[in-house]
Amino acid sequence: MASPYAIRILGDPVLRQRASDVTEIDGRLAALCQDMYVTMYEAQGAGLAAPQVGVQKRFMVYDLGAGDGPQVLINPVITESDGECEFYEGCLSVPGLRFDIVRPSTINITGLDLNEHEVEFEADDFLGRLMQHELDHLNGILLIDHLDEEQRRGAKKALRKMAMDAPSGGLDADLAAASRPKFGLFRS
Ligand SMILES: [Zn+2]
Repeated sequence: MASPYAIRILGDPVLRQRASDVTEIDGRLAALCQDMYVTMYEAQGAGLAAPQVGVQKRFMVYDLGAGDGPQVLINPVITESDGECEFYEGCLSVPGLRFDIVRPSTINITGLDLNEHEVEFEADDFLGRLMQHELDHLNGILLIDHLDEEQRRGAKKALRKMAMDAPSGGLDADLAAASRPKFGLFRS
């Protein structure tokens, strides 16, 4: 089955806008989430934020690959964060590149599920990282924004090189075909 959505790639302005709150949790949103699961699994991602498929709303889908199946978190808010850890992060919207990025190690997060129930949980390790990464997307922030000056220069160079190496079929197609990171925010 073809993916219902093309994942937006770095350079797409939609990735740089702040998404607005979800105000109605209805069948349309549920159907959108279903489509996003398909897109996420097809890209072998562990998480996908709505702006990555061009939807300017504050929700994300994710699957930790632990057998719980796909999950949705709507209007997420980080209420507490603690500690600091480094994690080798990747992003479906910045394909082919990964970076060591420091973020809080443990967070408390609240939000809503598709039944409009409030959910609240503590997240550390991979889930904590995934939540912070996807929440960044809802604020128009990409992982490259967390890099220091030197890392950023390297990233720009790598991106330019990928653009030059891309066949005439287009950069997006080439990037999409680039080898997937084996961890970071991707399922192994
Ligand atoms: Zn991402």
